[in-house]
Amino acid sequence: MQVLKFGGTSVGTAERIKNVARLIVERGRNIVVLSAMSGTTNSLVEIADYLYKGNSRGAMETIFALESKYADTVRQLLGDDDYAAEARTVLRGIFNFLRTFTPEGFDTVREKEILAQGELMSTTLMSLYLRQSGYICDVLPALDYMSTDADGEPRMESIERKLKAMVQRHPEADVLLTQGYICRNHLGDVDNLRRGGSDYTASIIGAVLEVEEVQIWTDIDGMHNNDPRYVDNTSPVHELHFDEAAELAYFGAKILHPTCVLPAKLHNIPVRLLNTLEPTAEGTMIHSAAPADGKIKAIAAKDGIIAVKVRSGRMLMAYGFLHQVFETFERYRTPVDMVATSEVCVSLTIDNDQYLRPIVDDLKKFGTVSVDRDMVIICAVGDLDWHNCGFQADVLNALRDVPVRMISFGGSNYNISVLVHAADKKRALNALSAALFQ
Ligand code: ASP
Ligand code: MG
Repeated sequence: MQVLKFGGTSVGTAERIKNVARLIVERGRNIVVLSAMSGTTNSLVEIADYLYKGNSRGAMETIFALESKYADTVRQLLGDDDYAAEARTVLRGIFNFLRTFTPEGFDTVREKEILAQGELMSTTLMSLYLRQSGYICDVLPALDYMSTDADGEPRMESIERKLKAMVQRHPEADVLLTQGYICRNHLGDVDNLRRGGSDYTASIIGAVLEVEEVQIWTDIDGMHNNDPRYVDNTSPVHELHFDEAAELAYFGAKILHPTCVLPAKLHNIPVRLLNTLEPTAEGTMIHSAAPADGKIKAIAAKDGIIAVKVRSGRMLMAYGFLHQVFETFERYRTPVDMVATSEVCVSLTIDNDQYLRPIVDDLKKFGTVSVDRDMVIICAVGDLDWHNCGFQADVLNALRDVPVRMISFGGSNYNISVLVHAADKKRALNALSAALFQ
């Protein structure tokens, strides 16, 4: 058995749903995880936003627009038979539910109930279409088995127990369909695995059921060796180690959610990235047996980075300085990405500026502080064990005409990162592609 996950654009229109249905049935009995149709979760976020702002009318208008989009989809997908009627009934229930929310007492619990409706709708449509096409498709309701603990982490044992029992209850099913993204939290309330979390759902399911493979189906033929939005002639990387893929996902490769890799890695379940528009393309295989050849395999970039430099007031041989610096970021729950140190200075980067002011104020108590905004982390990923020679030089050589604010290597065997100004990002990405991959 495999887990096949299809993203929002892959189920974004009636036509695309039909196409995905064909891919699903060709692959036999598997667990299929769906995202919401593309645009839906954004609309649901907008509805919640109007309710927070006290604008019921804005919420109603957004609900109405979404409802008519779904009415069109049902017509195009299912025509006008009993399956279409059933779809209309379920959707009417969902849209009526959305209309029950008012600004009074609107809170995050209610918001999450709203956000959960997108995946409930996409799985309803897909299951009815598959049943109309003559297949036995059973839906495994994610809200009945997917749960998180008080830290927001998946409760793997409980998920395993419940999901295994559910799968056994449907021995006849040609397809087992389930919702990505949505779950219940430790209070039993409807919650989610954060935006883009359907990939995480797929990986958690793959891990607890120890499937052969988790397939993440999107609209591009795998993870590319550079960002196709800024660089021409990028090409798919056919094999990556779990840790390489995690670095790339974290540092900007949009195709895969960064949290997705961990459950699969811990249970050693391969993750394959595939393209619904070109199903026979090789895609990217993420596993523990990726080639270890000392080469850089791909480049990714993460925008919106802020560099903070602190120069110690005590100068040489000051111990406890780094501790004070990191403790300050920890106090404001602000994760640090990149670090570079010298004897008396440390530079580090963050991507969340919510608490930048109090952080800087606190840091000023024990050092001189400066801040650079609009920075970009560019990271080169590959099999970069330090015993291999030359890859650090290759990166820096490629960037010889680009001002580099920070350099970081040695934290992991998979990543060398540099920090540049946003204005130099495109130039830097192209220079790296030209030097490393051509
Ligand atoms: N529908 C959710 C989102 O748009 C989850 C996902 O697509 O992975 O973020
Ligand atoms: Mg996604």
